[in-house]
Amino acid sequence: MKMVDLNGQYERLKAEIDEAVEKVMASGAYIKGAEVTEFQENLSRFLSIPHVIGCGSGTDALQIALMALGLQPGDEVITTPFTFIATAEVMALLRVKPVFVDVEENTFHIDVHQIEAAITPRTKAILPVHLYGQSANMAPLLQMAEKHGLYVVEDACQSIGAEYIFADGQRKMTGTMGTFGCTSFFPTKNLGCYGDGGAMFTHDAELAKEVACIANHGAEKKYHHERVGVNSRLDTLQAAILNVKLRHLGEFTQVRQAAADRYDALFAGCDWLTVPYRASYSTHVFHQYTVRLADGINRDLLQELLRADGVPTMVYYPVPLHLQPVFAELGYRRGDFPVAEHLADTVLSLPMHTELTEQEQEKVREVMGKIVEKCWK
Ligand SMILES: *Cc1c(COP(=O)(O)O)cnc(C)c1O
Repeated sequence: MKMVDLNGQYERLKAEIDEAVEKVMASGAYIKGAEVTEFQENLSRFLSIPHVIGCGSGTDALQIALMALGLQPGDEVITTPFTFIATAEVMALLRVKPVFVDVEENTFHIDVHQIEAAITPRTKAILPVHLYGQSANMAPLLQMAEKHGLYVVEDACQSIGAEYIFADGQRKMTGTMGTFGCTSFFPTKNLGCYGDGGAMFTHDAELAKEVACIANHGAEKKYHHERVGVNSRLDTLQAAILNVKLRHLGEFTQVRQAAADRYDALFAGCDWLTVPYRASYSTHVFHQYTVRLADGINRDLLQELLRADGVPTMVYYPVPLHLQPVFAELGYRRGDFPVAEHLADTVLSLPMHTELTEQEQEKVREVMGKIVEKCWK
């Protein structure tokens, strides 16, 4: 059994993908080929947002978006400590200070009610992360940003296709509600290519131009450099692969949701874990199916015994960002964000991908049940 089965998915889509790849190989346009523009247009239509700009990775997307907003050293950005390092790493690179706010136990997302207390005169933006494939609680977050004149940059690296549902029933794709949305096409993401890739989304034509310019060495016109930029591009080959995969994204999402429903049913009534909470204000695209283990279950031992029985699991993420050595100079301590710390100790992600079978899921349930019964009952 695999945590993620990229080969299996490739085998299933091989004819379509190989054709797209061969076309690029024959074209000779390996950088900025027609497929890149085509993909940006396709994704823009899918997300209902006018501007999609490809770049080299999800990390680059976040960095370039922050650069385009003109953040200065010492400016502060409010974000969650319960996320992948990239979310805050790009701030540190720009000498912008990440200011963490604790998360909600059930959704794993930034606790919107604690944001206001973290706002200072240096605060410039809020950066929510739509972790595991479900939207953060955007309506109150957007309201807070508007009240204090802050930008919102959405980390939608795990949530492509997930929709936020407003109180009036209106739906918007994650990544399309803030000043910028950023996503990743890392191979294991819900819309993954076969290497690194990412994209930024915005409604603002000026900002769209700005990020495109930054991603291209700060040049709008070749060899005429307006500002300091970076070299960050979505390769033509990756765009061609993404054009194929985007056509299947709806089906990928449905398969993941069906697998999540099956896990929910298999674990119904278990008192030693909590299945993922489904927020009423969001759809869930299940980038990860992440359970919370009851206190008292030794997660390391459980993982080891599961592995021995052929069941892979992962911990996303074992150390919250405020306790990472790299951020020691920010001065946070254990106890500052008790919910994030508790989650980091108790979450466990189970196998989740488009090729996962019912039999495999039954095995996950059965093996987990037996181990817990034997060790902790
Ligand atoms: C994957 C991921 C990123 C970074 O994307 P890369 O393409 O790997 O650079 C950033 N934030 C989150 C939440 C992610 O899951």
